[in-house]
Amino acid sequence: MWHRGWRDSIWSAMDQPWDMVIIGGGITGAGLLREAAQAGLRVLLLEARDFAFGTSSRSSKLVHGGFRYLRNGQISVTRESVREREWMLHEAPHLVTPLKFLLPSYASAGTPKWQLGLGVFLYDVLAPKWAHRGYSVQQLMRLCPLMNPTDLQGGYEYFDSEVDDARLVLRVIREAVQTGGVALNYAPVERLLRTADGQVCGVVVRDADDFAGRTLEIEAKVVINAAGPWSDEVRSQVGAAPRLRKLRGSHLVFDAERLPLKQAVTLLHPADNRAMFAFPWEGTTVIGTTDLDHPADLDQDDPFATPEEIDYMLAAARFSFPAADLTPADVLSTYSGLRPVINTGKASPSQESRAHVVWQEDGLITLTGGKLTIFRIMAKQALQLASSRLPGSPDFTLPRRIFNPLPRSLPAPLPVDINQLSYLLGRYGAETPALLSSMPAGEFTCIHALPSVWAELRWAAREEGVVHLDDLLLRRVRLGILLPNGGAEEYDHIRALAQDELGWDDDRWESEWNAYLDLWQRRYSPTPGESSISLNVSHASALSA
Ligand code: FAD
Repeated sequence: MWHRGWRDSIWSAMDQPWDMVIIGGGITGAGLLREAAQAGLRVLLLEARDFAFGTSSRSSKLVHGGFRYLRNGQISVTRESVREREWMLHEAPHLVTPLKFLLPSYASAGTPKWQLGLGVFLYDVLAPKWAHRGYSVQQLMRLCPLMNPTDLQGGYEYFDSEVDDARLVLRVIREAVQTGGVALNYAPVERLLRTADGQVCGVVVRDADDFAGRTLEIEAKVVINAAGPWSDEVRSQVGAAPRLRKLRGSHLVFDAERLPLKQAVTLLHPADNRAMFAFPWEGTTVIGTTDLDHPADLDQDDPFATPEEIDYMLAAARFSFPAADLTPADVLSTYSGLRPVINTGKASPSQESRAHVVWQEDGLITLTGGKLTIFRIMAKQALQLASSRLPGSPDFTLPRRIFNPLPRSLPAPLPVDINQLSYLLGRYGAETPALLSSMPAGEFTCIHALPSVWAELRWAAREEGVVHLDDLLLRRVRLGILLPNGGAEEYDHIRALAQDELGWDDDRWESEWNAYLDLWQRRYSPTPGESSISLNVSHASALSA
């Protein structure tokens, strides 16, 4: 699927009337595509950049109820989310994996320990599930020896789960395509088409991977705007007033050797008592997040963690894990995403509700807000609203599988151990046997201390619609976030696996590599901001120079 030349094949077949066009290839668009394709609709998803380019590859990677939302009284959001968490753990095992959280109680934090106990109890009741327990100071310190012992009064353990967010999006989109949906990346919707009476009836799409910039007018019975933080820009074309507040959230990624955690830990920032998390993810430890209004003048640009945010998160890490003695040099990478939340004018960004919304304006349906965790519920609601305009008025309230079942048989002998197999099954689902049998056996070795294997790079380059190198290194395989220097030390290895599969000559490879390094430095490095890397560097030596 999505072999070399796939984008041209899609372009040549796109000029036909569609039942539905979806704008945006994050998790919201992916969920819509999957449900609509399963209902037998002729559905096309158009993504301006890469699949999962937006918020859906820059989240906190949790499939969760949002324990801290209980603090703000958002009970219904929490109930809905913990139930979806349970569904995903059941239907997407290995991709969504259980994660224990420790919730320490500090005398200085102002929240009595019994209140935390009530919170974890309520969290379980909403699921419903019984997975919490209380701990003494000694027990907590045994579980997490790095934890700050000053003022510690004991605490609790509760249960949530985590995911590779970009791979979640890709798995949902690819399984939707296998059911008959069509998806295209680097295809921004530039304009909406309107009927004489002003109703939205299609889109104008441009090919962002074509120097000639070919465009096409596409008719559709229903157009759904799933453009995440950019949804207001799409809505502005039907004259709708902006309703979103873009909140930037950033994360720091640490080498797990410097901050080893067996469970996630809920932290309170010493400066303002804001709840944050530290959690083990893919062989690293991640700390986040901030929650700040994103300035309008930066809207068009990729967000990045500011020096103030980095200092703020580092202060939380140093306070919460004093024995680790963390410094800026321990940060492997940073990343930052924009939450599209509905603007109700609350003084603090963290008080804005994370609930989702569905709006219908001149026939354009907008689905935004919410969370990764509830993408299935969001998709069903928006599609049900569109149902009367679709052939056969499908009933989207019916329960359907989203994820294909895992394969029943695997090639023998297996080139991977049981942990690697579990990891691959989660990411590649029913495609795992094809990956295992078509990649050279010697490439199934782990990449450094990460759970990923080298074979995934070759597979992604051959099969997964990579258009630019950052698609491969930031979203298909997450080396740009998980390895030091964005993986630059592995230049030779990455090139040997990917260049031929991508069909790039040496000039194209060099320019893609330089563009990737520049992007990594400006957006994902420990010191993001403006580029400090010369554009004429060719490989890792440039970083150590
Ligand atoms: P996006 O992922 O942003 O996708 C929108 C897509 O639309 C983009 O890829 C963009 O390129 C595309 N697009 C824009 N304009 C056009 C156009 N004109 N034509 C075509 N395409 C277009 N949720 C959880 O459940 N768990 C978490 O742990 C969690 N943590 C979070 C942490 C942070 C810091 C943030 C910011 C959010 C977090 N969320 C979490 C929320 C969750 O990540 C988002 O709700 C979700 O990813 C939004 O997905 P989306 O598809 O709506 O938007």
